[in-house]
Amino acid sequence: MFHFKSISAPSNIPKEQWTHWKWQMQNALKTPEEFEKSLHLSEEEKKALHSLKNIFAVKTTPYYLQLCQQYPAVRQMALPHLKELDPSGFYQEDPLGEKNHNPVPRIIHRYPDRVLFLVTDFCGIYCRYCTRKHFTAQGNHTVSSKDYQKALQYIQNNQGIREVILSGGDPLTLSNNRIKNILTDLRSIPHIEIIRIGSRLPVVCPFRIDEELIDILKAHQPVFIMTHFNHPKELTAECVKHLLHLCDNGICVYNQMVLLNGINNHPAVVQALNRRLLFIRVRPYYMFQCDPSKGTGHFRTTIENSKWIQKELWGVLSGLATSRLSMDLPSGGGKVELVPDHFVKKEKNTFFHKGFDGITSGYPNPTESNLPDTTDIQEYLEEWKVLKTQPYGSLEKENYASQYI
Ligand code: SF4
Repeated sequence: MFHFKSISAPSNIPKEQWTHWKWQMQNALKTPEEFEKSLHLSEEEKKALHSLKNIFAVKTTPYYLQLCQQYPAVRQMALPHLKELDPSGFYQEDPLGEKNHNPVPRIIHRYPDRVLFLVTDFCGIYCRYCTRKHFTAQGNHTVSSKDYQKALQYIQNNQGIREVILSGGDPLTLSNNRIKNILTDLRSIPHIEIIRIGSRLPVVCPFRIDEELIDILKAHQPVFIMTHFNHPKELTAECVKHLLHLCDNGICVYNQMVLLNGINNHPAVVQALNRRLLFIRVRPYYMFQCDPSKGTGHFRTTIENSKWIQKELWGVLSGLATSRLSMDLPSGGGKVELVPDHFVKKEKNTFFHKGFDGITSGYPNPTESNLPDTTDIQEYLEEWKVLKTQPYGSLEKENYASQYI
């Protein structure tokens, strides 16, 4: 079936060190000099490393560096490029408008039933296309106990919040003990149903998924791990082994990818990634349009290109392997789904659509008067009403007008 290449430890590093996540984090490369010592760099790359180190931090684990050495697509996600300095990219400091939905420090409340909890700004890699550059790698590694309590209190006081998404930064850079405490605190809030953890460590440091972490996740279920693979070359034998271990222990794993110009913006690449993920029981969930954060102009695909990829995949690829192409509306307008348009025409009461392989067919719409009322609905109507009327964030809609740098 699929072959997943192994990334072995360099001969001068004992395997026990190489496969320990803390060693990978402690030995992550951060300075231009460290990169120059470990990678053969072009003059342009050297210049970019020096010019951009103070604009958005540079970092990668030794493990992921090996992938950077082998695959240009992977390298482009980790190494800075001078194009990040191009001022004509229609950038936004805060493309998701999170500062407008930040009722207490570290909490982003943009949707009625869920919040983001930014538990650290620290990552195992600083992805050059990062959406949250205004927060990530800004020296906010730890949450002060005052801010932590305020965040918990906010979640506690807002009973319509059903789901907490631990994000950042990368929550899995925190110690097991810290993660355990956060999960225990969240689980003590009765209205919290679901906890999600968004992390790129399963990609850049798969050894992070250790036995202790798995036991902690199992003890606080339902916990969903949201990984962030963007390219099939990132899916190594080491990643596969650790992801399967999560799945075998009943932890659901979903993947969110970002479409990136010249890196993965072709249906052949997306299908390769998604089929391999699905094969190891990781569900491809989102395929995001890259957000216009600072320095990402060269990464962003056109909407036409992204929709073409999705349309090409539609129907050819199993539904289970097809992720949802979505875009966050700039300035914090929330997510919209970009779906292939199959509609052809409406004739009388029949809707015609063209299928993935060109067959056009009409769906006879039922007449409204034949539709019965939905039964056994009363208790769910209450839930629905709470969900629909749950206050969230703050903000006045006028604030949403796009502001580009
Ligand atoms: S791991 Fe996530 S938060 Fe960190 S730099 Fe990459 S995209 Fe941004």
